[in-house]
Amino acid sequence: MSFIFTPHEPPSLAIDRSPARFPIHRIYCVGRNYADHAREMGHDPDEEPPFFFLKPADVIVSDGGSFPFPSQSREVHHEVELVVALLSGGSDIAAGAALQHVFGYAVGIDMTRRDLQNAAKEQGRPWDSGKAFDHSAPCSELHPVAQTGHPSAGRISLTVNDEMRQQADLNQMIWQVAEIIAELSCLFELKAGDLIYTGTPAGVGPVSKGDRMVAAIEDVASLEIRCD
Ligand code: MN
Repeated sequence: MSFIFTPHEPPSLAIDRSPARFPIHRIYCVGRNYADHAREMGHDPDEEPPFFFLKPADVIVSDGGSFPFPSQSREVHHEVELVVALLSGGSDIAAGAALQHVFGYAVGIDMTRRDLQNAAKEQGRPWDSGKAFDHSAPCSELHPVAQTGHPSAGRISLTVNDEMRQQADLNQMIWQVAEIIAELSCLFELKAGDLIYTGTPAGVGPVSKGDRMVAAIEDVASLEIRCD
């Protein structure tokens, strides 16, 4: 096959204790998957279930990397999230069979141009400029299931310049991982290489140039990102 230009390298993530990398197919994200965060955004978690949006695969930023403060925004927020990496997929996956598709887990930050997202919400427009911008998906190394198991509880946290901003437990997720995969697979055919950002707890807030974010999930992964 010939291409009129050299195709881009697939975006990828490092895998703990492995020389091989994980090539990324798509990045799915869950919105409002923790009740406290839904409330801080002005929504009633009992009225509306979680939902999905996407980021392009090539907005990933690896551990130790930098997050360039984006243009066109004065209010850029951190959202710490458990990230699920799939080694296989399919459509209409039953929740009881969902976890067998998981390769491993990571901690990620769903960076958000909150001012642009809020403007889009008010105008009934898509969220892409608020959520899917360049460098908007920092993510740690992947840790295979053999190391982590399938975490359903444990501390998730994010500090900015060593100040605690977000701290919660994975057991507060409204949809746990198996249910997320099952729900998502009814809307999209899931494939090897898909990442799922599973939603953020309360405490989202702004970052500035020069800030240092450290995200962690107990016994799973940690991530350090500099805001440039
Ligand atoms: Mn999020």
